[in-house]
Amino acid sequence: MTDLPVTTAPTEPIPSAADYPGLDAWRGLTAVQQPTWTDSAVYQASVAELSALPPLVFAGEVDVLRERLAAAAQGKAFLLQGGDCAETFEGATADKISARVRTILQMAVVLTYGASLPVIKMGRMAGQFAKPRSSNDETRNGVTLPAYRGDMVNGFDFTPESRAHDASRMVRAYHTSASTLNLIRAFTQGGFADLRLVHHWNKGFMANPAHSRYESLAREIDRAVKFMDACGADFDALKRVEFFASHEALVLDYERALTRIDSRTGLPYGTSGHFLWIGERTRQLDGAHVDFLSRVRNPIGVKLGPGSSADDALRLIEKLDPEREPGRLTFITRMGAKNIREKLPALVEKVTASGAQVLWVTDPMHGNTVTSPNGYKTRNFDDVIDEVRGFFEVHKSLGTFPGGLHVEMTGDDVAECLGGSDPIDQEAFLDRYESVCDPRLNHMQSLEMAFLVAGALAK
Ligand code: PEP
Ligand code: MN
Repeated sequence: MTDLPVTTAPTEPIPSAADYPGLDAWRGLTAVQQPTWTDSAVYQASVAELSALPPLVFAGEVDVLRERLAAAAQGKAFLLQGGDCAETFEGATADKISARVRTILQMAVVLTYGASLPVIKMGRMAGQFAKPRSSNDETRNGVTLPAYRGDMVNGFDFTPESRAHDASRMVRAYHTSASTLNLIRAFTQGGFADLRLVHHWNKGFMANPAHSRYESLAREIDRAVKFMDACGADFDALKRVEFFASHEALVLDYERALTRIDSRTGLPYGTSGHFLWIGERTRQLDGAHVDFLSRVRNPIGVKLGPGSSADDALRLIEKLDPEREPGRLTFITRMGAKNIREKLPALVEKVTASGAQVLWVTDPMHGNTVTSPNGYKTRNFDDVIDEVRGFFEVHKSLGTFPGGLHVEMTGDDVAECLGGSDPIDQEAFLDRYESVCDPRLNHMQSLEMAFLVAGALAK
């Protein structure tokens, strides 16, 4: 008789995040853009409930993403990050989620071909429920109420009840994120992501006469897919894709309650999403957001607007990535089409000279927001594209790698951004403007953007 191998069950209890040094240091710092919860009993109960719920994402997946982003920082992969400005509870339906995932997969196929590189697919999804606002209040017809801050905090309806900051919404945000992630996992593992299927959907885009200018690129992709098929490429492997979830880590009560200590490494991970970013309004060096995110192992993004100095960038690196770990830190620049060519070079040059290897991503949306003559918050497709072009030009001239694209987009046929080859005009806003926050590229505009960027990457 042979001895059975002895397996040792874990004997150490998993440490609690409550005992981990420094995770609560942010509480002593200035945290801007935070809710003022109206009911402290509901707040206590909600935080306790979130602290006991299972993680939404797993430390091992977060580590895989960090490796993927490290490859992108080295010019060996490209990041595509997209989704709503603000997800809503009501909008978390199977149809809308599948349309968004589908559009991201469609864009990714085109970009993969253009870049001849793996594309890391990431949604602004399954957690993008909190918004920083430029004003605490909103006034309509002489009535002033608290501004809408995302479904995690309050409701969009303009009533005092709906606009009150209700901590139980954090629990609903968790459950909505869980069901969204569940569907994303099913879609991306269950055949929906098959390259041939995604390619077939892109043929639908080309069928629209407005998009004939992309025909030669589409034909090349078609030939590449047919070639792979003829060679007997392993389409089983191409049926599944990795898809990561990301959001702005804004409401620190929520992010802290979902922080868990990884049993493998004993280190803290934010488990509300794989990739967490710090917004342009909350990236103060001595502020609570930078402190808190410096202490979790996730890959971290920071938005950099036109007012960012190279010094700010260097100090953020020092705080958030002191070990200079590849994949840890992503700078998402959102300068505006008018500023990018002038402002980006100094940032990239000084960061590169410091020896840090961050991932540079362009967000061509947030620096290009305007109000349409008929009063809607919008963006011109041409400005968005111009910022992307500027981003590529700057990196090309400096010999650095333009590593990704961060966009507000949807899979639906909305009318929120102006222009595109199949142009949206402001009259269309009256019927098809659905966003509760910033304007998104619609399905067709998103694909057009992918074709344009693929063309730039291929050069
Ligand atoms: C956003 O991404 O929706 C956002 C608020 O961006 P920023 O922090 O760049 O303004
Ligand atoms: Mn936005």
